[in-house]
Amino acid sequence: MATVDLNDVRKVYAGGFEAVKGISIAIPDKALCVLVGPSGCGKSTLLRMIAGLETISAGTISIDGKVVNSIGPTDRDIAMVFQNYALYPHMSVYDNMAYGLRNRGTPKPEIDARVRATAKTLELDQLLDRKPRQLSGGQRQRVAMGRAIVRNPKVFLFDEPLSNLDAKLRGQMRVEIKNLQRNLGVTSVYVTHDQLEAMTLADMLVVMNGGLIEQVGAPMDIYEKP
Ligand code: ADP
Ligand code: ADP
Repeated sequence: MATVDLNDVRKVYAGGFEAVKGISIAIPDKALCVLVGPSGCGKSTLLRMIAGLETISAGTISIDGKVVNSIGPTDRDIAMVFQNYALYPHMSVYDNMAYGLRNRGTPKPEIDARVRATAKTLELDQLLDRKPRQLSGGQRQRVAMGRAIVRNPKVFLFDEPLSNLDAKLRGQMRVEIKNLQRNLGVTSVYVTHDQLEAMTLADMLVVMNGGLIEQVGAPMDIYEKP
């Protein structure tokens, strides 16, 4: 189980630009929280701060009630899925998925069991020997998710994972991500600028603008009000 709490989080970049101006959000266990808003409103900055990839200028970020401000990205028990897949081109699907576990010194039999179970969940079990270039866009995206899932993280972070896919595949993957997130019950934060994606996926929707929260609520509460 994992809750993610942001308390008056701010980001001032070197040079003095304030990209995130004091954001507080309480994300419940197992919820999928979508951050939506126009380009430049601070979504990626906020996500990167949750990931530990960007320093926090003020405020606190807690996972399961524990402040993680000074904890490095690899020790936060989170996994991040990017839009450009970020797969290693020279490695097989199996090795791409095993990479993070090997780095952490996980015993070989456990790595093997987890990679195979994850591949099965994602219907990648027939493709374990392929290289990324021998896969379709949707399959690559699934490997990218597999790499995140295989570590059993407490929190998933998605940074516009579907924005490089064509419309049809995007629709398909949207459903897959929703089902996967629900089945695994992993608390997730998902960044997108696509309103349809935000509405379909979100349990909790956070609309951002200019580094601030404009609205928070269930998708229906936000989009169906006059
Ligand atoms: P979004 O993800 O919503 O498009 P970002 O978080 O990427 O927004 O960026 C928010 C604002 O912060 C933008 O104005 C962007 O130009 C600025 N910004 C992002 N990264 C940096 C940086 N490393 N240095 C200075 N400004 C940055
Ligand atoms: P995104 O797709 O998230 O909007 P961008 O193209 O805005 O990404 O940013 C790409 C990279 O450049 C990010 O690492 C971001 O932090 C950095 N960046 C964005 N805006 C600025 C800026 N004004 N000054 C310095 N770095 C920036």
